[in-house]
Amino acid sequence: MEVDIACVGFGPAAGGFLTTLARRLSAPDAPPLESRAVPGMPLQAVCYERADDLGFGVSGLATRARAIRETFPDLDVSQIPLAAEISEEKVLYLLDPHGASRRPFTMRLADRVIRAFPRLFGCEHDAVELPYTPEFLHKTGGLVMSIGQFNSWVGQQVMMTGAVQIWPGSPVAGPLIEDGRVAGVRLIDQGVDREGKPAGGYLPGMDIRAALTVVGDGPAGPVGRKLDEVFGMPEGHRRDEWAVGMKFVVQLPEGTELKPGTVWHTIGYPEPEIFGFFYVHPGGLASVGIFVPSWFENPARTAYRYLQHYIQHPYLWRYLKGGTLRSWGAKSIQESGRRGEPHLVGEGYARIGEGSGSTNVLTGSGVDEAWATGVLLAEAVIELFETGKPLTRENLEKAYVGRRRKSWLEREARVAEKARDGFHRGVMAGFLGMGLAGLTGGRLSMPGKPKQPRERVRRAEEFFADRIPREEIEKIKQQCAAQGRPLHDALMERCGWPKIDYDGKLLVSHQDALLLGGKVQAPAGVADHVVFLYPELCESCGARICIEMCSGEAIHPGENGAPAFDREKCVHCGACFWNCPEENIRFEAGPGGLHSAEN
Ligand SMILES: Cc1cc2nc3c(=O)[nH]c(=O)nc-3n(C[C@H](O)[C@H](O)[C@H](O)COP(=O)(O)OP(=O)(O)OC[C@H]3O[C@@H](n4cnc5c(N)ncnc54)[C@H](O)[C@@H]3O)c2cc1C
Ligand code: SF4
Ligand code: SF4
Repeated sequence: MEVDIACVGFGPAAGGFLTTLARRLSAPDAPPLESRAVPGMPLQAVCYERADDLGFGVSGLATRARAIRETFPDLDVSQIPLAAEISEEKVLYLLDPHGASRRPFTMRLADRVIRAFPRLFGCEHDAVELPYTPEFLHKTGGLVMSIGQFNSWVGQQVMMTGAVQIWPGSPVAGPLIEDGRVAGVRLIDQGVDREGKPAGGYLPGMDIRAALTVVGDGPAGPVGRKLDEVFGMPEGHRRDEWAVGMKFVVQLPEGTELKPGTVWHTIGYPEPEIFGFFYVHPGGLASVGIFVPSWFENPARTAYRYLQHYIQHPYLWRYLKGGTLRSWGAKSIQESGRRGEPHLVGEGYARIGEGSGSTNVLTGSGVDEAWATGVLLAEAVIELFETGKPLTRENLEKAYVGRRRKSWLEREARVAEKARDGFHRGVMAGFLGMGLAGLTGGRLSMPGKPKQPRERVRRAEEFFADRIPREEIEKIKQQCAAQGRPLHDALMERCGWPKIDYDGKLLVSHQDALLLGGKVQAPAGVADHVVFLYPELCESCGARICIEMCSGEAIHPGENGAPAFDREKCVHCGACFWNCPEENIRFEAGPGGLHSAEN
């Protein structure tokens, strides 16, 4: 198939791109933009989304929505389900009610002082509201949304124009690279066995040839990663910071006093490295979640278990207790920011969204930034079509990269660039570094040498050496292997984390959450999208971090405790490939995953 523009992924970045492009293409009084691929026709643009519906997506989401509002100046927020204007914003420091978290000495000391003088510090329900929050953390005038609902709403607006096409349920296997240029994309093969070998009804993936491939496949997209592999990164740029974001959507108990638009950011609990959020939507729904960063050294890095402890923190639990889990989701976040920016353009391609390094880790904001990159690229493409210029690297460089460099996006990305380096020296240095960078516009920061996640993961024997004797860890390992269970529950409980008291409504098992989160589909006839490259390496791997951190329990102990993959449970969070210390996991495009428009 020949088109002018093939777009990979439908997230906020592609939303901004397609909205701007479709608006221009369907403008009644503007001269038509003629297709170069199919002469005589209008410009042909098609977007391929991996997930089965456009409402797939996992995000907080609280956003300043500057770029989104610029696109929709007359935005009626009530038209977007679950959206509300931000009405209240707080940053909370959460103390540890169990004494189980691993807090640095200075933090433990501070906790003691706070507990000794609770009134002085305004400590209530084991939490202190920070009396001052710097401007850069505020999302004043912004919106709380559900990304699933937002994406669906945007998709509807775009498709109603009839000017561009969006195809959900269409995973792109990779870019077509010919003579050093991207000539389009190839969709995944169908009618194959789990290893990708032709089986009954074999249908090789369709090639879509395009003058411009727009890559907006998010933080862990296989198309963007393939481009990085082939074309490399610009000098000095690298990707070494990630996080797994996991959230619950909770129906709050009837009569909740929390107003729609309430936004709380939290630090300090369940572990000092884990940031949390609590956002209230209309209809008594709340999005409550955490981020487990790649610089968290704990090998028991289960986001699910930590999220269950998080929601039970006394400050939050008094609002959540009696609530019902409506939905659930997890996804990676690329947190290298500007330093992780790849080549934004090349012959035949342009990058937008989080995969292009747009997420701002200082302000904790990625949706509006992704949207802005899409808008800037669409404006550039429109300019090149209107002026009859070809979509070459040079022209894209001037029209798109030039616009990006002049935008607020770039200014703010520079401020954030080194903001989190301090976390590589310790949590307190990290907080100090963020404050310094935010308050000085990025002129000052706390130095720290970012490391790849695989360099940070520690073996259980090492990490828990001060809390659990080596022989006991060995015994726990043997017991868990015999029962086919991951290690994290046993290790956490041994360190003082209380057992989870399941109530069948909000505190449910990981498996039940998968079902509640939306149906999980993994159609037959496609290859497994998570592959252990060298299984023999897994047998000798001490960390088996892939099992401990898997967001859907899709990677579980198989024979001899080595990992086995069950794609029925995979939520496509993309975290396994960047967590494996041996780089032994291939994460590719595939259909299925969670289906919840509420995330
Ligand atoms: C738990 C959590 C909370 C967050 N909270 C906030 C917040 O409060 N505020 C904020 O601003 N940001 C937040 N973020 C970050 C924000 O969600 C992202 O920065 C933003 O979604 C990035 O948009 P994007 O369009 O670049 O990528 P994505 O939203 O990741 O979209 C990429 C799309 O590409 C698709 N795709 C991937 N591979 C393929 C393929 N091979 N073929 C076809 N399609 C493919 C994916 O399915 C996906 O739909 C949060 C993220 C998480 C995980
Ligand atoms: S995939 Fe990686 S983390 Fe998992 S067992 Fe194998 S080598 Fe270890
Ligand atoms: S197997 Fe699936 S759910 Fe598990 S970490 Fe990998 S992508 Fe996420």
